[in-house]
Amino acid sequence: NTLSIAIIGAGLAGISAARHLSEAGHQVQLFDKSRGSGGRLSSKRTEFGDLDIGAQYFTAREPGFRRELKRWLEAGWVADWEPQLYLYEKGQLRPSEDDQQRFIGMPRMTGLSRQLLEGLSLTSSCRIQRLRRDEPHWWLEDDQGSEHGPFDRVVVAAPAPQAAALLEPAVQLAQAAARINMLPCWAVALVFEQPLDTPVQACFVRDGALDWISRNSSKAGRKGPDSWVIHASTDWSAAHVDDSPLQVIAAVQQALAQILGCDLPEPVFSHAHRWLYARPAEDCQWGALAAPELGLYACGDWCLGGRVENAWLSGRQVARALMGAG
Ligand code: FAD
Ligand code: NAD
Repeated sequence: NTLSIAIIGAGLAGISAARHLSEAGHQVQLFDKSRGSGGRLSSKRTEFGDLDIGAQYFTAREPGFRRELKRWLEAGWVADWEPQLYLYEKGQLRPSEDDQQRFIGMPRMTGLSRQLLEGLSLTSSCRIQRLRRDEPHWWLEDDQGSEHGPFDRVVVAAPAPQAAALLEPAVQLAQAAARINMLPCWAVALVFEQPLDTPVQACFVRDGALDWISRNSSKAGRKGPDSWVIHASTDWSAAHVDDSPLQVIAAVQQALAQILGCDLPEPVFSHAHRWLYARPAEDCQWGALAAPELGLYACGDWCLGGRVENAWLSGRQVARALMGAG
């Protein structure tokens, strides 16, 4: 029979759960606190083009996800990305090509989440604060004091610390989510009028303040001048979590110039975004969490490891658990 299901969080895990459940005939309603959707698949719209400031690309290893990816590629929702790949380690910058296939949303990372949401119902700008059980139903209370419901089942698809608060009615689930530590990441976007004098299009960084450098404008479908997205390392981000965006931009620019070994002109655009819950501290193998006796479930990358593919797999897993529980 058809169930009415609320999903809190319209990142890739929540969207994957929503698609699996609605394809099986259930009535699904997504909620997200943001104005948009996609969560950590995140693209900042600017006059210089769209800049991917969250997930940079994704890889696909699990067979079911690879089959799904094939459909996305055929539909043009994602494309290959084969950057000139480098590694910066022990003060040395060197090419680091490999055979790994990497994929990007088109024409921006959130292009994928946008397409996957087609036909699904999303209430955006709605932060759910509390779940209330009124046997046999659930009601969702938002931070404006409005209630949404009734629902037969609830799936919490928010990052672990936010999920822990919502999962309170199922103590074991709340405790499991609360055990997951999520680590911060400062992301900086820079746009230059003239292309920087370097062949680098992407770079893994092993020491210093940075973790990752990418030339956003080297990705298919991205329009505009030479744009870069740089992620600070976890340790640096944690140590500078309360710095101002201007301080962070200055420090990141300096580190970037040192790694690329070229002068950086004044950018025509700069932006810093602080991700407080960028990635789970460690990978676990839960897949998803379930309290079937209450009809309460949880999914997200933190149930499998901080990657796009894992978010999608966790959403599939929670849908299977929910449907298996009848
Ligand atoms: P999210 O995308 O975080 O979605 C959760 C959603 O829940 C959000 O939209 C949030 O607004 C919403 N929410 C939270 N609380 C509430 C509430 N109370 N009420 C309503 N809504 C709520 N992965 C890769 O595979 N490759 C990469 O290159 C890569 N790079 C990354 C770089 C950065 C800087 C970051 C931050 C992440 C990166 N990742 C990368 C990880 C990847 O982005 C995540 O694993 C994945 O997007 C997580 O999806 P999710 O659905 O589990 O969570
Ligand atoms: P992947 O296979 O491309 O990379 C996994 C890791 O392997 C890299 O982080 C890097 O350390 C190493 N690596 C891969 N290719 C390399 C090469 N050619 N040269 C040197 N090192 C190489 O991608 P994945 O397994 O799908 O991982 C997802 C990526 O998302 C990771 O890079 C991870 O760091 C990143 N991520 C970042 C955040 C953040 O907060 N910044 C959060 C979650 C995930």
